Amino acid sequence: MKKIILIAILVIALFSVIGCKPARTAGNEEKLNVTVTIFPAYDFVRQIAGDRVNIAMLLSPGAESHSFEPSPRDIITIQKSDLFVFTGGESDAWVERILQSMNTENMSIFAMIDFVDVVEEEFVEGMEHDHDHDHEEDYCEDAEYDEHVWTSVQNAILLIRSIAEILCELDEAHAEFYKENAAAYIEELEKLDAAFSELVEGASRKTIVFGDRFPFRYFADAYDLSYFAAFPGCSTDTEPSAATVAFLINKIRAENIPVVFHIELSNERMANTISEETGAKKLLLHSVHNITKRDFDSGIGYLELMRRNIEALREALY
Ligand SMILES: [Zn+2]
Repeated sequence: MKKIILIAILVIALFSVIGCKPARTAGNEEKLNVTVTIFPAYDFVRQIAGDRVNIAMLLSPGAESHSFEPSPRDIITIQKSDLFVFTGGESDAWVERILQSMNTENMSIFAMIDFVDVVEEEFVEGMEHDHDHDHEEDYCEDAEYDEHVWTSVQNAILLIRSIAEILCELDEAHAEFYKENAAAYIEELEKLDAAFSELVEGASRKTIVFGDRFPFRYFADAYDLSYFAAFPGCSTDTEPSAATVAFLINKIRAENIPVVFHIELSNERMANTISEETGAKKLLLHSVHNITKRDFDSGIGYLELMRRNIEALREALY
């Protein structure tokens, strides 16, 4: 008797699953699996696709991105993805190795640096030119390109367009949804871009100083800002020489620069020293490599972090 009841319950349960929720179950099964390495890619995919895709970010919020090494679990996550988005720069040297070792037949692979390069080739070459001739300090040995492409809002727009296109191809059923979200997000990014342009155009000062690494070359080029910094963006070095610190201190004093910047998740030591020596205010400029756990949990994204940058930049340039 108990057995019969149990079977009946099972049949009813099964029936109700099949009968009542076929669309939802099928929908869940059909969700694309998107894996990304770092936060900007995570946020871009999230803005376009919302929860219509499963997004896995390999880098944990709050973690340092340049020393990232994938765990065996990360490798399984990559293997299961329909779309894999990474930067494609020096910090992602491990990616090629991993991808070569797996079957990528059914995986779309998106290197952010390739998309910006293809679309904005002159822009990237121009930067390399500057790089080779003017800034010896700003030289990254094996890096062909500066990988921090997302720091330019214009690049972010290009990336959003390209990622949206791929998502539409992979999941035609939701193409309209992706397109609408991408368009709305791009509208916000265009406003942000205009706000930066306006801010810099109206500023009396066009120079920013970093007591830190400088991953903002695309950003600085976009708005014609000149910069002084201790290390290039791809440097793993965080202990500057006395001469480097002295140079930055002199620069701030000579040009009366009111702000010394540091980047997110920095030890801030150098910026502290420079701030103490010069009286310049120490402020954070988000390069959005990654996000703090707290901001991540409260749903903050690229747009909000970049908006915070407007306020910080205003203090530095006016
Ligand atoms: Zn970096």
